[in-house]
Amino acid sequence: MKVEILKKLQCVFLFTLQFFFINGQENLSQGPYEQLILRNVTLINGNGAPPIGPIDIEIKQNIITKIKTVGYPGISKKNNIKLEKNGYELNLDGMYVLPGFVDMHGHIGGNSQGADPEYVFNLWMAHGITTVREPSGRGVDFNLDLKKKSEDNSIIAPRIFTYTGFGRGSEVNTVEDAVKWVRENAKKGADGIKFFGSPPEILDAAIKENKRLGLRSAFHHAQMSVARWNVLHSARAGLTTMEHWYGLPEALFDDRTIQNYPANYNYQNEQHRFEEAGKLWSQSAKPFSEHWNNVMNELIELDFTIDPTFNIYEASRDLHRARRAEWHEDYTLPSLWKFYEPSKISHGSYWHYWGTEQEVEWKNNYKLWMTFINEFKNRGGRVTTGSDSGFIYQLYGFAFVRELELLREAGFHPLEIIRSATLNGAEALGVENKIGSIEVGKFADIIIIEENPLENLKVLYGTGAIKLNQNNEVVRVGGVKYTIKDGIIYDSKLLLKKVKRRQRNLPKSLLLPKMNLRKKQKKTRPQHLKRLK
Ligand SMILES: [Zn+2]
Repeated sequence: MKVEILKKLQCVFLFTLQFFFINGQENLSQGPYEQLILRNVTLINGNGAPPIGPIDIEIKQNIITKIKTVGYPGISKKNNIKLEKNGYELNLDGMYVLPGFVDMHGHIGGNSQGADPEYVFNLWMAHGITTVREPSGRGVDFNLDLKKKSEDNSIIAPRIFTYTGFGRGSEVNTVEDAVKWVRENAKKGADGIKFFGSPPEILDAAIKENKRLGLRSAFHHAQMSVARWNVLHSARAGLTTMEHWYGLPEALFDDRTIQNYPANYNYQNEQHRFEEAGKLWSQSAKPFSEHWNNVMNELIELDFTIDPTFNIYEASRDLHRARRAEWHEDYTLPSLWKFYEPSKISHGSYWHYWGTEQEVEWKNNYKLWMTFINEFKNRGGRVTTGSDSGFIYQLYGFAFVRELELLREAGFHPLEIIRSATLNGAEALGVENKIGSIEVGKFADIIIIEENPLENLKVLYGTGAIKLNQNNEVVRVGGVKYTIKDGIIYDSKLLLKKVKRRQRNLPKSLLLPKMNLRKKQKKTRPQHLKRLK
């Protein structure tokens, strides 16, 4: 018995040691293993089940092979899974495990933002995001290359599902062009298509052909074509997910057919675009009215998925909050900061003159939008979690956690939120038999965290949550501890450290131009505010 305990202790010890030093070098990951046991955890699954623990989870290579209840809270353990020769175990007493998150709207950086894939991947993985759907970005070849490398685990990156921007790479002017393009996209190996808007007959043909081929689709119903083709048209043609919210208020119009654009509106002026968008929900049918109900029920009947990406518009209702988020200083690239700043050119930088009036409109807009999403969920509609980071002051990884908080604000129970961020995403991607929950036979994509995220979602932020401890000291708690993907364990905090260090190695002149936060904060930061270590 004693020998066994000693052996176990040794394993835990060796494990910790190897994690940080391999040949004297920092190591970000370890595994996969012939056998890995996560011991004594509380499981918060993605399937709507309540938390349960203590649990042992066994992983062999990249597959979950056993899940066992091993006692009662505070009562000595039994039925432990036996450690095999060459096996490893992690004693995670008191910690929580969740399925890896699925970010349904993740752009892998971009040239305009100066954000390279490695930077974006590190931030995502550090926040437990083990799967990402890329809704059009740098092109299908670029993404497929990264997807392959992620599959091989030759890079640190979430699983990637790539949806090509419709029509990218060629002219699509006819129904024949559309069908041809859709077939070629499928042949190339893309997972789906992201639409923005085209003439109705082209959209109809493209969505149907894509569906016939077994691929999935996403749609940002941009204003230039939404008057003739809204969310209902898409759902009827077989679209699988809608992004953001555009196209939904338009489907809900019951006393007009076109948004109330002012005469001087110009779509190329982004202050116009976003300011008027903030008045859109109030132009649609009232919540729980007959038309509102009919549209919702039809969408649910069509097995339609809504990916609201609440967070990406949050700066519209509270610019100050989004601009001054505490993580910018350490984790936002100077080039990304530059991209966020008011500009007539950069997308989503519509702050020509953004004030109280615009923010109040948007606050009201959110209430109506959230009412729809929450009720859609209550009636059985699928709502997923997507971030759309890299625009409008929203940062990769951090914004995903903000999205969870906004789902809470919309009325979701924390367990409904976790399901939305895991299994619902897997279902919308058609891979619910492989990922999205912690179940025997599924891929070992798992988040390990010391705090309970159901109690406070903020513990999922890489910067953690502020808490007063028993000695009346302010401490930071939380931040994902380990992100496991395909049975490989990544040290989430080390991934963040890597991003932070890279940020600090940049020339001083490049450190957040105009904001100059670092210098000021050093002076004004209260002594008792301890930094996340
Ligand atoms: Zn997007």
